[in-house]
Amino acid sequence: MKDTEYIPIASLNQYSYCPHRCWRMFCAVEFVDNQYTIEGTSLHDRVHSFSVGNREDTWQVRAIWLKSEEYKLIGKSDLVELDSGELYPVEYKRGKKGEWDNDELQVVAQALCLEEMTGKKVSCGYVYYAQSHQRQLVEITPELKQSAIATIESVQTLLQTGIMPKPLYSKRCKGCSLYSQCLPKAADKVGRYQEAS
Ligand code: SF4
Repeated sequence: MKDTEYIPIASLNQYSYCPHRCWRMFCAVEFVDNQYTIEGTSLHDRVHSFSVGNREDTWQVRAIWLKSEEYKLIGKSDLVELDSGELYPVEYKRGKKGEWDNDELQVVAQALCLEEMTGKKVSCGYVYYAQSHQRQLVEITPELKQSAIATIESVQTLLQTGIMPKPLYSKRCKGCSLYSQCLPKAADKVGRYQEAS
């Protein structure tokens, strides 16, 4: 890993969703709420109070800080559980599982931190989707780990250089709270006009 400041675990999720959105949030420090972000924030406010306890045979700790020196990551967990000797993170999200793997990467990054902090292998994690009340299993495969590490490096480069990735219009723009700021369709048209001229 490059010599850099710690990067927020949540930035991996944003970068994986859209590098331009990640730049706006973590370099330009812009943020606009919409229905989805407000629901997501109130969900995290509810789960981001520190607590430790047992739920049947499962030990649970909420809202602890996770950190990795190796990967220069830092972030607050929603929930970490210990069940049958297995330690794993659970990330809370509003809505239901989407088409993209950005939530999975956030879980893998938390698993990397947990492995380093405890010295124990973390072989899985979960994303809990509040709308569907379902936990989605995330198996921490070598491929997902490599994908998370590559994303960490991309985010580090983004934060170090501050170079803005172009906004690219896609299906993901539909629910994005930054749509009116980045106007991805207009940026696309200007890009095509510049290429043609
Ligand atoms: S509107 Fe689209 S291109 Fe712009 S930040 Fe959101 S997801 Fe990215």
